[in-house]
Amino acid sequence: MNFFRELWDALIYFLFPPRCPACKEIVDERHQFCAACYKKIFRVDFCKSVPAPLEKVLRVTKYRGGSQKLLHKLKFDNNLNVLKPLKKILDDVSDREEISRLLDGVSFVVPVPLHQKRFNERGFNQTEMIFREWFIKKNIPLKNLLIRVRETPKLYDKNKSERQEILSGVFAATEQIDLRGQKILIVDDIYTTGTTVSECAKVLKSLGAEKICVLAFASDFGEELPKT
Ligand SMILES: [Zn+2]
Repeated sequence: MNFFRELWDALIYFLFPPRCPACKEIVDERHQFCAACYKKIFRVDFCKSVPAPLEKVLRVTKYRGGSQKLLHKLKFDNNLNVLKPLKKILDDVSDREEISRLLDGVSFVVPVPLHQKRFNERGFNQTEMIFREWFIKKNIPLKNLLIRVRETPKLYDKNKSERQEILSGVFAATEQIDLRGQKILIVDDIYTTGTTVSECAKVLKSLGAEKICVLAFASDFGEELPKT
């Protein structure tokens, strides 16, 4: 039985070799980025200046190349196949010292919420889909503690002050939970100016949270994007 299974796997591997999810180059393992694509996006580091009341913001990838491409497919094409390579990146960074420092003492994780209407259209919260399993493995609970109380326009072409105006008061807590003395981690798929997570953090602060940090799957931290 095992012999046939192995033969079958070898045949599948031969007919459909694993390919880089970004550029389709053949790679060793399924859902793995090729070395060139990985090098272009992979960057675990803390943002140098973060808006109040946030304490630290850590990203896992730059928002470009394969990372940008896959997040777009997830958000705009509802393509759930991209989750495996995205989750593989999280697994790859799991033991990094920056991750341990960020997660140290975290009571629970709160994903940035979608408005109910957008959630219904998409069928899922992409940030939660990317991070949920990874936090289960880390034994840190994920709570949907925030909601969007009104719809907002897309923000990609808005500057920082426009974003602040649009997002002011847009988040609220789903329950009156006492967060005094607790460290809470907000997760988001893409961190741009920090306005969204900072608005989320204000609600958590009003519930008493002591420290609020952010883990973003992708961000450019205000770096100049390559021209190509
Ligand atoms: Zn590639």
